[in-house]
Amino acid sequence: MSLGVDLMLAKTCSLDCIYCECGQTTDLTLERKEYVDVAEITHELDSFVAQWKGGLDWITFSGFGEPTLHSRIDEIIEHIKNKHPDKKIALLTNSTLFTEKEVRKSVLNVDLVSASLDGATERSFAKINRPHPALSPDSIIDGLVSFRGGFTGALMLEIFIVPGINDTSQELAVLKKAADLIRPDRFQINTLDRPGTVDWVVPASHDCLKRVEAALGSPLSMDGRSSIEGTSAGLAGESKCSGEILTREKDVGGSGKIYGDFMPQVLEALKRRPLSAEDIAKIFGFDKKEVETLMEKLLKKNIIEKKSVGKEVFYTNCHGQTSL
Ligand code: SF4
Repeated sequence: MSLGVDLMLAKTCSLDCIYCECGQTTDLTLERKEYVDVAEITHELDSFVAQWKGGLDWITFSGFGEPTLHSRIDEIIEHIKNKHPDKKIALLTNSTLFTEKEVRKSVLNVDLVSASLDGATERSFAKINRPHPALSPDSIIDGLVSFRGGFTGALMLEIFIVPGINDTSQELAVLKKAADLIRPDRFQINTLDRPGTVDWVVPASHDCLKRVEAALGSPLSMDGRSSIEGTSAGLAGESKCSGEILTREKDVGGSGKIYGDFMPQVLEALKRRPLSAEDIAKIFGFDKKEVETLMEKLLKKNIIEKKSVGKEVFYTNCHGQTSL
């Protein structure tokens, strides 16, 4: 069970990814500052942990924007380590700030870093991540390599596959080279499973994801191409990192009735990312049918909107209303 902690204002980020679940980036920046007051964050966090009765294993930095843009993230990590020593800390990052030594140092104490790297060439990086103009994939890869050198926790490399852009053999060969330099503990392959920022992105097929997994998990061949195109036994220093394809867990949710007190929390969650009725049922322990009935009522009142990816329906709180 993980509690997501958002250190950023909507939607402040160094990237404007085409698949972002939080909508288009409105403040594309590399400026580090205290976007949300540290005392406010630690107070809210402490009171939530004290009240939550459901068990909590992890505290995860994620949310509306890139968490390492928060200039005092190290103090928040320190606070959690001191005040909640039984909780593990995870950081979901887009890796772009790892070019700075100070940023790398500030997050060394977390237990797990999930670092994104979708495009290792200028072309795919620009198309998928629409970065701040000062960023380049080469410097981000160098930053990740330096971070790995000093980080003793678990490092995951997360790669979001956009069919036709970063799944070609050329792109995968460059990504494979980068992954071999970074030496993550695992890589995770992801694709669209809920609405993103642009309509033309489609999910990669399972066959495509398996092909990517094979290309990234196999050792490099002599000429630097992934061994999916040929064998490469016996290369000195070659690495073989295992990977996994991420899929959303199917869950029927709980059987709890929805009480009025929970409405602000449901609406707050829908403000942050699109969720299906199943997601909501699972997060809050509600009965899925009850959630569907409630969503229909909220749709009729024009409080939320719905979008589809394939056959799945997702709800978003596009207007930001958090009370009825
Ligand atoms: S997916 Fe993450 S890195 Fe990309 S724009 Fe959204 S918040 Fe920023």
